[in-house]
Amino acid sequence: MAALSTSTAIEKPLLSRGEISDRFFFYRSAQVMGDTAKITHIHLLPLTANISIKWPVPKGEAADQRPAAGDNFFIVFEVMKDTKHPASFFRLSEFGCWSNWEDVNAIAVKMLWKGKDDETMNFRYLQMSAEDEYAHAAPGGSDKYRRGTLLFMNLMNAKYPEVQEWVGAPIFTRQVQIKTDAFNQEIIATRSDKPLAKLIGPRFSLEVPAKRMRDLGLENVNGAWRSLTWGWVDKLPIWGEKRMQGVSKQAIRTLQAEIKNRRDCDRCFLIKTVLGDADCDCQQVGSVNRCQECVNAGLPCSWTNTQKLGGPTFMDAPAGASSGGLKRMMSGEFFERAMKALVAAPYVADACKKGVGPSSIDMHRLVLEELE
Ligand SMILES: [Zn+2]
Ligand SMILES: [Zn+2]
Repeated sequence: MAALSTSTAIEKPLLSRGEISDRFFFYRSAQVMGDTAKITHIHLLPLTANISIKWPVPKGEAADQRPAAGDNFFIVFEVMKDTKHPASFFRLSEFGCWSNWEDVNAIAVKMLWKGKDDETMNFRYLQMSAEDEYAHAAPGGSDKYRRGTLLFMNLMNAKYPEVQEWVGAPIFTRQVQIKTDAFNQEIIATRSDKPLAKLIGPRFSLEVPAKRMRDLGLENVNGAWRSLTWGWVDKLPIWGEKRMQGVSKQAIRTLQAEIKNRRDCDRCFLIKTVLGDADCDCQQVGSVNRCQECVNAGLPCSWTNTQKLGGPTFMDAPAGASSGGLKRMMSGEFFERAMKALVAAPYVADACKKGVGPSSIDMHRLVLEELE
């Protein structure tokens, strides 16, 4: 058993933290609540933002693919130092109007557990759904951003200097810094209130995301309202005799008219078409060239050729397509980039994995147990 040396008297920590080259990680024991056969519910009440994590158990998932009440269970927060996390918890869009937007996307949340008879650790990353709420009147007043900012400050043990009142103030958690000394087989646990980073900002900018949108290749960024052109539609090769065999001229005209009937900016178009969000309503705000949805999100509108936005096969109507055939799958590299940039980071959370995890985790667990 590893020796334990503590440099200060340590109260029971709420968060113990460690560090590897590219990220910080924080863990604490948590409780699994609720009917774990249908929904898993993890309570993290002492943390700021009262995060409690719920997710439905996928159909057909075996009982050992999820934690059960009584398991040795930890929730792990990972914070990437210089980049967004590939399985970011909040799944914010890549482009945002606040300078600390990327801090929120650097956070991942992982469950780590071990049943009484398990030989190995199990883990899985959790990710929120793509939908977001804009309950705050401020630009970019997204609920995910607000919660993520609070959590980031909490984990970093630091505050942003420029206060956004609608975000609120973090409640800091006691932290214990854990270091493992492999050579001496020791774990050193030190109570530490030291901030892990000096936070800067957050500053608002519409121009920064606008530039990134232009660089990505989105068209008419912050341009004239509904600046879409349609000359290309009639020239699409899909209208050729062979492709449209058996389709009446009238049906083709209807189809063309439907394509030209797009009224939504890029972001609204993607949200509606991909997320199926019927509440999204692309209406111009006053005389500015922006829709209410994008004003809420703190982004400019853009108006990109639908064929480019939806990917190379989006307009490739199959032979015999009727006007009902307009619901097509968007795909392709540009579409994926635009989705990430404007709507949400992709869902990539792994299913339950076994036997993987930081090798020091068992040692760290000993620390926690000794401190309890
Ligand atoms: Zn819109
Ligand atoms: Zn818009």
